[in-house]
Amino acid sequence: MTGARASPGITLPSVTTCGFCEYVAGTRECAFVRRGPLVSSIVNRTQYETGAVLVIPNRHLATVLDLDAETLAAAGLEAQAVSRALVEGFGATGINLFQNNGIDANQHYPHYHLHVVPRHPGSDPTRIYTEQQFQRTSIDEQHRIAERIRRALAS
Ligand SMILES: [Zn+2]
Repeated sequence: MTGARASPGITLPSVTTCGFCEYVAGTRECAFVRRGPLVSSIVNRTQYETGAVLVIPNRHLATVLDLDAETLAAAGLEAQAVSRALVEGFGATGINLFQNNGIDANQHYPHYHLHVVPRHPGSDPTRIYTEQQFQRTSIDEQHRIAERIRRALAS
């Protein structure tokens, strides 16, 4: 978490290690969809909707207040590209993008992450990620989903 900047005015969750930094550093396994120079997209380890992805900055930046313009733009563009892939590759008929800043906004990890969530007829768009409510998806399945999204991105 070197180089962390406090988000002014935002009450951050406190953690001893940052799992997202560990993903980027390769010390904790995850299924990357893509790794760019500024941001990466990874399969959410809890697939509460199949194809749910997180877009994260490669640097430890806690909230939207900490992102520079280039990183914010890169995150938005990656979320848009993944959204297209979820529509084309997964048949999503709706997409939610959401992002929480501070514990009072339900942020659990103090590393910016933008949720990209495919929705289908009958989906409950109020169903959002909580660690407790949904079972973790196996890493093999996460890799299969990442590969599916990559194929859709390439087509
Ligand atoms: Zn981090």
